[in-house]
Amino acid sequence: MRIPMIAGNWKMNTTVAEAAALVKEMRPELDRIDNVDKVICPPFVSLAAAKELLKGSSVKLGAQNLYFEEKGAYTGEISPLMLAELCQLVIIGHSERRQYFHETAELVDKKVQAALKVGLKPILCVGETPRENEAGKTEEVLSRQLSLTSKQAYHTGLVLAYEPIWAIGTGKAATGEQANQTIGFIRRHIAKQHGQEIAQSVRILYGGSVTADNIAEFIKQPEIDGALVGGASLKTSQFLSIVKQTSEIKRVK
Ligand code: PEP
Repeated sequence: MRIPMIAGNWKMNTTVAEAAALVKEMRPELDRIDNVDKVICPPFVSLAAAKELLKGSSVKLGAQNLYFEEKGAYTGEISPLMLAELCQLVIIGHSERRQYFHETAELVDKKVQAALKVGLKPILCVGETPRENEAGKTEEVLSRQLSLTSKQAYHTGLVLAYEPIWAIGTGKAATGEQANQTIGFIRRHIAKQHGQEIAQSVRILYGGSVTADNIAEFIKQPEIDGALVGGASLKTSQFLSIVKQTSEIKRVK
């Protein structure tokens, strides 16, 4: 059984005071919802405050990025060791980082390995651009993006997020069937690479314009284990509804 996960990616939004207010507002309701791994990923500067506010909570904290070295002369970077004190998970290879900060597959993989070394669970993002999608290259792109991820990484609990770039922040979500089909492809690809056991145990989330109004369409699909939510994760009522619906739909009757 794969435990569903809903992770909120707050991106570069909220000051420390705003992040603290949001955590305070969400925590009590989130704590009442079972059967889902609930994760919030505020900006780096708010992680310490969020950690304090989440003491004793079932809500997990994630970072949005990291650097692969543990320490040294890397001005402005944040190391895995620093994050391991503050959170449990880290988003790696988000399309915004691949696109705006030119992160390559090799760099992304170094970050995955660095995270695992200190016990941080990576949420590794993969997905195709609109042009690749239109050219029918989705499967080729995903296979390439997944080629470096090791068996060990999956064993250690790495979570995948399939985020078609044309659906992120655009309000133009994929359909549930489309996402299910592509995530099914990812699972079959992992089975070929690393065997059925790993393919069946890895959690694969969908990401791209998920809201309280469309989450059910994704969560009902058998291959989809949850969602990485951007915009809607900053609105308490939306995020709570997304988590609640996931808990109910994925509950084994
Ligand atoms: C994301 O940031 O990973 C994302 C999917 O954003 P949005 O939900 O806003 O499309």
